[in-house]
Amino acid sequence: MATEKIPYKIYLSEDEMPRTWYNVRADMKNKPAPLLNPGTGEPMGFDDLRPVFCDELIRQELDNDTREIPIPQEIRDFYKMYRPSPLVRAYCLEEKLQTPAKIYYKFEGNNTSGSHKLNSAIAQAYYAKQQGLKGVTTETGAGQWGTALSMACAYLGLDCKVFMVKCSYEQKPFRREVMRTYGASVTPSPSMETQVGQKILAEHPGTTGSLGCAISEAVEVATSNPGYRYVLGSVLNQVLLHQSVIGVEAKTALDKYGVVPDVIIGCAGGGSNLGGLISPFMGEKLRGERDYQIIAVEPKSCPSFTRGKYAYDFCDTGMICPLAKMYTLGSSFIPSPDHAGGLRFHGMSTILSQLYHDGYMEARAVEQTKVFEAAEQFARVEGILPAPESSHAIRVAIDEALKCKETGEEKTILFGLTGTGYFDMVAYEKFHNGEMSNYIPSDEELAESFARLPKVPGQE
Ligand SMILES: *Cc1c(COP(=O)(O)O)cnc(C)c1O
Repeated sequence: MATEKIPYKIYLSEDEMPRTWYNVRADMKNKPAPLLNPGTGEPMGFDDLRPVFCDELIRQELDNDTREIPIPQEIRDFYKMYRPSPLVRAYCLEEKLQTPAKIYYKFEGNNTSGSHKLNSAIAQAYYAKQQGLKGVTTETGAGQWGTALSMACAYLGLDCKVFMVKCSYEQKPFRREVMRTYGASVTPSPSMETQVGQKILAEHPGTTGSLGCAISEAVEVATSNPGYRYVLGSVLNQVLLHQSVIGVEAKTALDKYGVVPDVIIGCAGGGSNLGGLISPFMGEKLRGERDYQIIAVEPKSCPSFTRGKYAYDFCDTGMICPLAKMYTLGSSFIPSPDHAGGLRFHGMSTILSQLYHDGYMEARAVEQTKVFEAAEQFARVEGILPAPESSHAIRVAIDEALKCKETGEEKTILFGLTGTGYFDMVAYEKFHNGEMSNYIPSDEELAESFARLPKVPGQE
């Protein structure tokens, strides 16, 4: 194979950018379990979801059958500001590791929000605008989603209200200011602005918050203000759908050079970047056309796949959202303040949960300091300063490449580099000073949270 033909960066032209999102659910035999109404235990349909979500997004959420969904021209035009994103051959990392493995990564950090989240933010804001809404509310953990949504809302002239997990709000003042620059209002969560925030603060005084708490607050504000809807940056089927643009582009770029990955790796918080990256490859796997090893990487501090239960659970701490069947640590689980804020969610996409349950993918949990070791190694040879979340994927990509060094296998590895870490320098500082801890929840801690899973018919 004339590998020297493959450039460091494979760029696609604007014209080669996908015209449709690929809906992997169309190829799943076992469809992801429906959302349930927490009051009645019945599946939630279009009308049940309307008070919370935008109409078109609900249609996408419930559509398990349409394989290709057209990307509206205005969204494609916005995408052109920062897409197609590069697919990079990590020659320098391969050299450094002295591995026979061939490593590629799809880099999604090439926009001001610094992550893949903009791919779904612009889509969600677009459909809200189309519906004639005034604005949207949301939560943000590390701040990437809030930033992405602020950018999308500024572009379309929508009001944007963000509840930011308190520990991030304090750790990342610059993120907050970026959001405000794009016109969003930012509130630390839990706050006294909502009933659910007041309740959480009463139960857990001094809590530094979690995504689950912030979601509850954002939903409450959306449902109690006319002209507002709630939007979510991960977990939901619609978000995975929008993020399929990552995988479709990556596959188009690889196909150009006849490259077929053996292993595909992504970090998993709520599962959207991983779901998006793997979608077209998973489609081939589901249709029996080709096989791939697919690995989800999560933090040991928040191990939804590797130690969670596959069960119906709330997506939020306040228990006001629909129930989703997913690998979960329980909605009352509040993860330790790990620095990979974007991976601190107790649950997981229902699509990925079903695929994992059916054996189509595997998962690994990694320790925080090991993740930062990988991040630093990567930054020094590849130049990009990676986000802590993304560095989970780097960790396992390096581990796999080192395995190849031992066995002599020339595997092709593809991983998702979801974003940059410029706003995470406090975490890097802790790492450099040797002050980073590796908190791992105990079995007792998890059992306590599992005991509080909601009672749903058919679920013990
Ligand atoms: C939010 C985020 C993640 C995790 O979210 P997913 O929905 O699991 O993709 C990963 N990396 C970065 C940079 C993020 O901002």
